[in-house]
Amino acid sequence: FPVERIRNFSIIAHIDHGKSTLADRLLEMTGAISKTEKNRQVLDKLQVERERGITVKAQTASLFYQYQGETYLLNLIDTPGHVDFSYEVSRSISACQGVLLIVDANQGIQAQTVANFYLAFEAQLTIIPVINKIDLKNADPERVENQIEKVFDIPKEECIRISAKLGTNVEQVLLEVVKRLPPPSFNRAAPFRALVFDSNFDHYRGVVANVALFGGCLSKGDRIVSAYLGKSYEVNELGLLRPDEHPTEKLFAGQVGYVIAGMKEVKEAQIGDTLYHQKHPVEALPGFKPAKAMVFAGMYPMDQSDYSILRSAVEKLTLNDSSVTVQRDSSMALGAGWRLGFLGLLHMEVFNQRLEQEYNASVIVTAPTVPYKAILSSPRLIKEHGREEITIVNPAQFPDRTLVREYLEPMVTGTIITPDEYVGKIMSVCLNRRAVQKNMIYIDDRRVMMKYLFPLNEIVVDFYDHLKSMSSGYASFDYEDAGYQAADVVKMDILLNGKPVEELTTIVHKDRAYSAGKAMCERLQDAIPRQMFEIAVQAAIGNKVIARETIKAYKKNVLAKCYGGDITRKMKLLKKQAEGKKKMRYIGTVQVPKDAFINVLKRK
Ligand code: GDP
Ligand code: MG
Repeated sequence: FPVERIRNFSIIAHIDHGKSTLADRLLEMTGAISKTEKNRQVLDKLQVERERGITVKAQTASLFYQYQGETYLLNLIDTPGHVDFSYEVSRSISACQGVLLIVDANQGIQAQTVANFYLAFEAQLTIIPVINKIDLKNADPERVENQIEKVFDIPKEECIRISAKLGTNVEQVLLEVVKRLPPPSFNRAAPFRALVFDSNFDHYRGVVANVALFGGCLSKGDRIVSAYLGKSYEVNELGLLRPDEHPTEKLFAGQVGYVIAGMKEVKEAQIGDTLYHQKHPVEALPGFKPAKAMVFAGMYPMDQSDYSILRSAVEKLTLNDSSVTVQRDSSMALGAGWRLGFLGLLHMEVFNQRLEQEYNASVIVTAPTVPYKAILSSPRLIKEHGREEITIVNPAQFPDRTLVREYLEPMVTGTIITPDEYVGKIMSVCLNRRAVQKNMIYIDDRRVMMKYLFPLNEIVVDFYDHLKSMSSGYASFDYEDAGYQAADVVKMDILLNGKPVEELTTIVHKDRAYSAGKAMCERLQDAIPRQMFEIAVQAAIGNKVIARETIKAYKKNVLAKCYGGDITRKMKLLKKQAEGKKKMRYIGTVQVPKDAFINVLKRK
C-alpha cells in the first residue's frame, strides 16, 4: 500500500462528546462494520466500558476509503477521554500524524478538551476541529467555534460541523482527513522498525502487540527482536485491525496493525518498546514517559485461599494496562496482597471492576492514598532506607513525626471550566480543599476557565463528583502533576470497638483531621447495619481519640419466623444469611459490608 495514501489519526475529546459514536459512523461508512444497532460503540470492547459508557482502552481500526478513484488506508485510533486515562491518549497520539478534536456543540470546550488539545499540539500533529451534536436543540456551533478560535488559536473556518448520531456531514470528516493530514513519512526501503503502542493478553495466543511501523516492512515468519529485553521471536501472525484482527502476509512502514510472536510474559511486550529485524538492529525509538501513579491502594483476596487465583488475574490485567504499578504487600489483618498504583480513582475502580468481572476474583480494597514523601531525621531510619527522602504509598508505613524533619505532599494544577454563575460556589469549595487560585479567564461571555494549585489528596476521591453536583453537571475538571510541597500531615486510624480497621487508615492534613475523622465516623455509622451488640466507631491519631459515634444494638432472630419444624425453610433462611455474610468483612466481631469502605471516604 503506497505510503502517500495512508493517514494515521486519532479522535480526541472530552468524555461524552461523541468520539465512540463518530468512530462507529466512520467504520460503517467504510464498510468495516454493518449498520445494526448491535454495533453501537463497537470499539468499546470491555464489559466495563459498555456498562459505564466510557472508553478506557484505546482501540485501533483500519479503514479503506475511496477518494478520487483511489483507495486510501485510514488508521483510526479511538482514545479514552477521562483524565485518568490521558496516558492512553498520549500513547495513541504517538502513532499518528493528526487528530480529530471533537467538541460538543452544546457543552463547548471542557477541561479535557483543553488537556487533549495540548497533548496533540505539543506532539506537533495536524488538528482538525469537529463540532459534534449539531442536531441538539440547544446546539450553538457558532459559540463553540469562537471558543476554539479564542482558546486554541485555530481559525474558526477550519471547524467541521457534524452530527455523529445522525451521520450528518460525517463524510466530510473522512474527506478532510485525507486532504488535511499529511501521510506518514517513513521509508519502506529502510530496515524494519516498529513501535509497540499497546498490547493485549490473549489466553490462547499470548501477547497481541499493537504496532506502528516507522520503517521497512514485516512478514510472517520473520525473526524480530524487542529492544528492551533483547529477546528474539518468530512472527506467527500479523495483520490489520478492522477493528477485528484481519491477518495479512505483510505490514509496511506507515501502517498500524498487530503482531503475534509467541511472547508469553508481561515484561516481553513493553509499551513504548521498539521491534526490529534480528539481522538489522536499529536504534530504539524514543519510548514513552512512564505513567505516574497518583493513587495507591492495598488489594487483598477476600479469602486467602484465593491468593494464587487473584495473583494471576492481577498479572494478566496489568499486562493489559501497563499504567498500573504493582508491589507485593502484606498485612496482619488482611494477609498477603498487593499495593497497587493507579492514575486516578476512576482508573482504580475500573481495575477492580475488571478483576471481579473478567477474572471472577473477589477483592478487598483499602482506602486510596496519594504518594507522600518524608524527609527523615532519624539516623536509624536513614540508615535503614539508605537515604533521607522516602516515598510513602501505604499509610501503615507512615513514619512518626518524631522521626521526620518534614512531610511533603503531591500537588496538581487543576483546570476547571464552568458557566460563570457557579464561579462563587466553586471558589469556596476550592478554598475549603486548600487550593490556591492561579488564574481565571473568560473563554466566552458566559464561561470561565480557572486554574488552581491543589493538594492531590484533596481532589482524588470525590472532588470531581462534588464539582459536578454543585454545578448541575456543567463544570468540568482536569489536572496535571505539579510536584511536591511541604505539608503538616498525620496518620488517622478508624476503630470499631477498639479494633483498627486497616482498610480505612488514612493520611490527612492536621488542620482537617478533626472534621475528616468526625465525617468518617458519621458515614460509617450509616454504612454499618445494627448488630446484636453496641458498636463504638472512633477516629484516632496515635492514642488520642478525636471523634466517636455509636451504633446501637439491634435484636433480631431470623429463625423466629419459622414455626414448628419446617427444616427446609429453616435451612434456606440460614443459607441466605450465610451468603449475605460473604459480602461482609469481620473487624473483631463486627460485620462490615464490603462496599462500605470506599463509600465512607467520599465527602457529601
Ligand atoms: P465518547 O465518550 O466521547 O466516546 O462519547 P460517546 O460516543 O459514547 O457519546 C456520548 C453520548 O452522546 C451518547 O449517548 C451518544 O449517543 C451521544 N451522541 C454522540 N454523538 C451525538 C450527536 O451527534 N447527537 C446527539 N444528539 N447525541 C450524540
Ligand atoms: Mg467512548
